[in-house]
Amino acid sequence: MSLNLCVLPDVKPDENAITISHVRAYVIKSKEVEETGGGFADCHSQAEGHWILGTDKWPIANPMSYYEKYKARRSSWGIDAIGSVIVEIELTNGIKGIGISIGGEPACYIIEKHFSRFLEGQDPLNIEYLWDVMWRSSINYGRKGLTIQSISAIDLALWDCAGKLRNEPVYKLLGGKTKDCLPCYATCYDPLAAKNLGFKGAKFPLPYGPADGDQGMMKNIERIKQIRESVGPDFPLMIDCYMSLTVSYTLKLLELIKPFNIKWLEEHLPPDQYSGYAEVKKRNPTTILLTCGEHEYTRWGFKLLLDNNCADLLQPDVTWCGGITEARRIVALASAYDIPIIPHGSSIYSYHLQYAFPNLPMSEFLIMSSDSSSIVPYFGDLFTDEPLPKDGWIHLDANKPGFGVTINKNNLRRPYNRDEKVI
Ligand SMILES: [Mg+2]
Repeated sequence: MSLNLCVLPDVKPDENAITISHVRAYVIKSKEVEETGGGFADCHSQAEGHWILGTDKWPIANPMSYYEKYKARRSSWGIDAIGSVIVEIELTNGIKGIGISIGGEPACYIIEKHFSRFLEGQDPLNIEYLWDVMWRSSINYGRKGLTIQSISAIDLALWDCAGKLRNEPVYKLLGGKTKDCLPCYATCYDPLAAKNLGFKGAKFPLPYGPADGDQGMMKNIERIKQIRESVGPDFPLMIDCYMSLTVSYTLKLLELIKPFNIKWLEEHLPPDQYSGYAEVKKRNPTTILLTCGEHEYTRWGFKLLLDNNCADLLQPDVTWCGGITEARRIVALASAYDIPIIPHGSSIYSYHLQYAFPNLPMSEFLIMSSDSSSIVPYFGDLFTDEPLPKDGWIHLDANKPGFGVTINKNNLRRPYNRDEKVI
């Protein structure tokens, strides 16, 4: 039984509305440029030697650590193989909005060959409608991963357009600010350097996983102990497990790290193991918080995490989970369960969401300099004016409309160009 009385007529732009004239999807013009330019929208696309790929001294535990051939460096199995996608939406009055995600050429294909048909000619302010038709039309091949990352990049470009049309920052369109600035913790290789830069806490990667046995577990404890001693007893420390562990390994690890005052343990299991996350949370022998959600998608994925009591806090990535439109639904859903949200990375796209809603208490900043010792833009050379944390705080400029940044298009290439006159 349907409540609908009839099929709805087409959603048409209002008379004299400014509409979308072009949707363009770009990648970075070469792998070399992506690596030397700081990764752009894909923070893992870095030159060899960068800490985020794993170092000789400390590898980074990950789902491929079970295989000898792939355990030393995350680049060895292609963590950076897909690369950036950058979406530019141009309006009939010349305004341009920019959104980004991971997705590379496959995402460009989906955006130009499929989703562009729903966007060009439409009112960019009808964001809920545009999200819904992209979602419904891609259910047969999408729902998670690249398809939702493509929708995310488009959605962020629409919000950027909306802010520029209204001449207001995105956080004001979302309901205004709940904070005057954002405290940041750093994700890094060297928590002591992060502490000295003024960050309010630091997160570092777990080096070894279950395939490394008892010896690997002892090396993990050695690394955690060494970091705790370097920063002193009270500086907040967190550990990222990047989907690499099992239920029993996580429970053992929690027991062994009890003495080191760890604030949270992150993404200990592969993202589809909802029952495993619930089991660890139920049997957690410590007061260490358990977190996940970085690789989860849409309100339906996050509802599973919430309904199954999987985590103490959730970490959606605004550039992957469905954009601002879907992230605000996830934020509302989590608030009903009294679960805070601390989004994964994503700089300005996260900051505006964090300004706008009260249940997002702090911000993640990934220190993307090669040795993790100095602050550089999270998106590398992608924008000319990305705001950076000072003394561990982020301030957004209320006078900059949209997401408040300027794209540097010199390094972009459009692989499925439907308009040869425009690069
Ligand atoms: Mg993480």
